[in-house]
Amino acid sequence: MKRWCNDEPRFWARVDRRGPNDCWLWTRSVNSSGYGQMQYSGRVRRTHQLAWSFVNGPIPPGLQVLHRCDNPPCCNPAHLFLGTHADNMRDMAQKGRAARAQSPLTSEQVREIQALAHAGLGRREIAGRFGVHPDTVSKISRGRAWKPLTEEPAAAAPLRQPLSTDSIAEIRRLLSAGLSRSEIARRFGVNPTTVGRIRMGRIGAAA
Ligand SMILES: [Zn+2]
Repeated sequence: MKRWCNDEPRFWARVDRRGPNDCWLWTRSVNSSGYGQMQYSGRVRRTHQLAWSFVNGPIPPGLQVLHRCDNPPCCNPAHLFLGTHADNMRDMAQKGRAARAQSPLTSEQVREIQALAHAGLGRREIAGRFGVHPDTVSKISRGRAWKPLTEEPAAAAPLRQPLSTDSIAEIRRLLSAGLSRSEIARRFGVNPTTVGRIRMGRIGAAA
Protein backbone atom coordinates (compact mmCIF):
# COMPACT_ATOMS: atom_id res chain seq x y z
CA MET A 1 0.00 0.00 0.00
CA LYS A 2 1.34 3.40 -1.00
CA ARG A 3 1.50 5.86 1.84
CA TRP A 4 2.65 9.32 0.88
CA CYS A 5 1.89 10.97 4.11
CA ASN A 6 0.51 9.05 7.00
CA ASP A 7 1.18 11.21 9.99
CA GLU A 8 -0.11 14.46 11.32
CA PRO A 9 3.10 16.56 11.35
CA ARG A 10 3.64 15.88 7.68
CA PHE A 11 0.06 16.84 7.00
CA TRP A 12 0.44 20.21 8.74
CA ALA A 13 3.74 20.84 6.97
CA ARG A 14 1.71 21.01 3.76
CA VAL A 15 -0.72 23.57 5.15
CA ASP A 16 0.10 27.27 5.00
CA ARG A 17 -0.68 28.00 8.65
CA ARG A 18 -1.22 31.67 9.44
CA GLY A 19 -2.93 33.64 12.18
CA PRO A 20 -5.69 31.97 14.23
CA ASN A 21 -8.43 33.74 12.28
CA ASP A 22 -6.88 33.45 8.82
CA CYS A 23 -7.56 30.77 6.28
CA TRP A 24 -4.89 28.07 6.30
CA LEU A 25 -4.60 26.91 2.74
CA TRP A 26 -3.62 23.46 1.59
CA THR A 27 -0.54 23.93 -0.55
CA ARG A 28 -0.72 20.72 -2.59
CA SER A 29 -3.18 19.04 -4.90
CA VAL A 30 -6.84 20.11 -4.90
CA ASN A 31 -9.78 18.44 -6.58
CA SER A 32 -12.03 19.99 -9.23
CA SER A 33 -14.13 21.65 -6.51
CA GLY A 34 -11.08 23.26 -4.95
CA TYR A 35 -10.90 20.98 -1.89
CA GLY A 36 -7.45 19.90 -0.85
CA GLN A 37 -6.88 16.20 -1.21
CA MET A 38 -4.23 13.87 0.05
CA GLN A 39 -3.52 10.17 0.15
CA TYR A 40 -3.76 9.23 3.78
CA SER A 41 -3.59 5.68 5.11
CA GLY A 42 -4.13 4.39 1.63
CA ARG A 43 -7.20 6.47 0.84
CA VAL A 44 -7.61 9.79 -0.90
CA ARG A 45 -9.05 12.06 1.75
CA ARG A 46 -10.21 15.64 1.70
CA THR A 47 -7.73 17.67 3.68
CA HIS A 48 -10.31 19.77 5.56
CA GLN A 49 -11.78 16.53 6.89
CA LEU A 50 -8.34 15.39 8.02
CA ALA A 51 -7.67 18.76 9.65
CA TRP A 52 -10.93 18.57 11.59
CA SER A 53 -10.23 14.97 12.63
CA PHE A 54 -6.71 15.71 13.84
CA VAL A 55 -8.15 18.21 16.27
CA ASN A 56 -11.52 16.68 17.13
CA GLY A 57 -11.32 12.98 16.42
CA PRO A 58 -13.25 10.82 13.97
CA ILE A 59 -16.08 12.43 12.01
CA PRO A 60 -19.34 11.07 13.45
CA PRO A 61 -21.35 8.96 11.00
CA GLY A 62 -23.87 10.95 9.00
CA LEU A 63 -22.12 14.27 9.52
CA GLN A 64 -19.87 16.28 7.24
CA VAL A 65 -17.10 18.81 7.82
CA LEU A 66 -18.13 22.23 6.48
CA HIS A 67 -16.29 25.53 6.03
CA ARG A 68 -17.41 28.68 7.80
CA CYS A 69 -15.13 30.64 5.47
CA ASP A 70 -16.43 29.34 2.11
CA ASN A 71 -12.85 28.53 1.20
CA PRO A 72 -12.56 24.88 0.10
CA PRO A 73 -8.75 24.50 0.45
CA CYS A 74 -8.81 26.02 3.96
CA CYS A 75 -7.66 23.62 6.72
CA ASN A 76 -7.90 25.97 9.72
CA PRO A 77 -9.80 23.89 12.31
CA ALA A 78 -11.33 27.11 13.65
CA HIS A 79 -13.03 27.57 10.28
CA LEU A 80 -14.45 24.05 10.18
CA PHE A 81 -17.63 22.75 11.72
CA LEU A 82 -19.78 19.66 11.59
CA GLY A 83 -23.08 19.69 9.81
CA THR A 84 -25.61 17.40 8.22
CA HIS A 85 -25.99 16.82 4.51
CA ALA A 86 -28.87 19.32 4.56
CA ASP A 87 -26.59 21.89 6.23
CA ASN A 88 -24.06 21.26 3.51
CA MET A 89 -26.63 21.82 0.76
CA ARG A 90 -27.78 25.03 2.42
CA ASP A 91 -24.17 26.06 2.87
CA MET A 92 -23.43 25.41 -0.79
CA ALA A 93 -26.45 27.46 -1.83
CA GLN A 94 -25.17 30.33 0.31
CA LYS A 95 -21.72 29.93 -1.19
CA GLY A 96 -23.22 30.14 -4.64
CA ARG A 97 -24.88 33.38 -3.69
CA ALA A 98 -21.69 34.69 -2.15
CA ALA A 99 -19.71 33.76 -5.25
CA ARG A 100 -22.13 35.60 -7.46
CA ALA A 101 -22.09 38.66 -5.27
CA GLN A 102 -18.33 38.51 -4.99
CA SER A 103 -17.32 39.31 -8.53
CA PRO A 104 -18.85 42.66 -9.31
CA LEU A 105 -18.22 45.08 -6.47
CA THR A 106 -19.00 48.54 -7.72
CA SER A 107 -16.96 51.57 -6.68
CA GLU A 108 -19.96 52.64 -4.65
CA GLN A 109 -19.97 49.34 -2.72
CA VAL A 110 -16.24 49.66 -2.14
CA ARG A 111 -16.75 53.14 -0.66
CA GLU A 112 -19.61 51.80 1.47
CA ILE A 113 -17.41 48.97 2.75
CA GLN A 114 -14.70 51.47 3.63
CA ALA A 115 -17.23 53.66 5.42
CA LEU A 116 -18.63 50.74 7.43
CA ALA A 117 -15.15 49.53 8.34
CA HIS A 118 -14.23 53.06 9.38
CA ALA A 119 -17.38 53.20 11.51
CA GLY A 120 -16.07 50.18 13.39
CA LEU A 121 -18.22 47.37 11.98
CA GLY A 122 -16.48 43.98 12.09
CA ARG A 123 -15.10 42.68 8.83
CA ARG A 124 -17.12 39.47 9.12
CA GLU A 125 -20.31 41.44 9.56
CA ILE A 126 -19.47 43.56 6.52
CA ALA A 127 -18.41 40.52 4.51
CA GLY A 128 -21.77 38.91 5.24
CA ARG A 129 -23.67 41.97 4.06
CA PHE A 130 -21.82 42.15 0.77
CA GLY A 131 -21.37 38.43 0.20
CA VAL A 132 -17.60 38.67 0.03
CA HIS A 133 -14.75 37.05 1.92
CA PRO A 134 -13.63 38.80 5.13
CA ASP A 135 -10.13 39.05 3.64
CA THR A 136 -11.57 41.12 0.82
CA VAL A 137 -13.09 43.48 3.36
CA SER A 138 -9.72 43.78 5.11
CA LYS A 139 -7.97 44.68 1.88
CA ILE A 140 -10.59 47.24 0.97
CA SER A 141 -10.66 48.82 4.42
CA ARG A 142 -6.87 49.12 4.42
CA GLY A 143 -7.21 50.89 1.08
CA ARG A 144 -4.89 48.41 -0.61
CA ALA A 145 -4.79 49.55 -4.24
CA TRP A 146 -8.26 48.22 -4.75
CA LYS A 147 -9.57 48.47 -8.28
CA PRO A 148 -13.28 47.95 -8.70
CA LEU A 149 -13.98 45.00 -10.96
CA THR A 150 -16.69 46.88 -12.76
CA GLU A 151 -15.99 50.21 -14.31
CA GLU A 152 -18.22 53.16 -13.68
CA PRO A 153 -20.86 53.65 -16.36
CA ALA A 154 -19.55 55.38 -19.46
CA ALA A 155 -21.72 58.36 -18.51
CA ALA A 156 -18.96 59.30 -16.06
CA ALA A 157 -17.55 61.62 -18.71
CA PRO A 158 -20.50 63.78 -19.67
CA LEU A 159 -20.35 66.79 -21.93
CA ARG A 160 -19.52 69.80 -19.86
CA GLN A 161 -21.51 71.97 -22.20
CA PRO A 162 -23.60 71.15 -25.21
CA LEU A 163 -21.44 71.21 -28.31
CA SER A 164 -22.94 72.88 -31.32
CA THR A 165 -23.00 71.14 -34.68
CA ASP A 166 -20.39 73.65 -35.80
CA SER A 167 -18.11 72.78 -32.88
CA ILE A 168 -18.45 69.09 -33.60
CA ALA A 169 -17.59 69.70 -37.25
CA GLU A 170 -14.60 71.78 -36.15
CA ILE A 171 -13.46 69.03 -33.76
CA ARG A 172 -13.67 66.51 -36.60
CA ARG A 173 -11.60 68.85 -38.79
CA LEU A 174 -8.95 69.24 -36.09
CA LEU A 175 -8.87 65.48 -35.52
CA SER A 176 -8.26 64.80 -39.19
CA ALA A 177 -5.62 67.52 -39.14
CA GLY A 178 -3.81 65.37 -36.58
CA LEU A 179 -4.37 67.37 -33.38
CA SER A 180 -4.38 65.27 -30.21
CA ARG A 181 -7.57 64.54 -28.32
CA SER A 182 -6.33 66.29 -25.22
CA GLU A 183 -5.34 69.41 -27.15
CA ILE A 184 -8.75 69.58 -28.82
CA ALA A 185 -10.50 68.86 -25.54
CA ARG A 186 -8.70 71.76 -23.90
CA ARG A 187 -9.67 74.15 -26.70
CA PHE A 188 -13.33 73.25 -26.45
CA GLY A 189 -13.49 72.80 -22.71
CA VAL A 190 -14.64 69.19 -22.94
CA ASN A 191 -13.37 65.85 -21.72
CA PRO A 192 -10.92 64.04 -24.05
CA THR A 193 -13.35 61.08 -23.93
CA THR A 194 -15.91 63.29 -25.62
CA VAL A 195 -13.47 64.06 -28.40
CA GLY A 196 -12.83 60.35 -28.74
CA ARG A 197 -16.53 59.71 -29.08
CA ILE A 198 -16.85 62.35 -31.75
CA ARG A 199 -13.98 60.71 -33.61
CA MET A 200 -15.75 57.38 -33.42
CA GLY A 201 -18.97 58.95 -34.66
CA ARG A 202 -20.83 58.36 -31.40
CA ILE A 203 -21.56 62.02 -30.95
CA GLY A 204 -22.82 64.28 -33.70
CA ALA A 205 -23.21 61.57 -36.32
CA ALA A 206 -26.92 62.23 -36.66
CA ALA A 207 -26.73 65.96 -35.95
ZN1 LIG B 1 -10.80 29.43 6.24
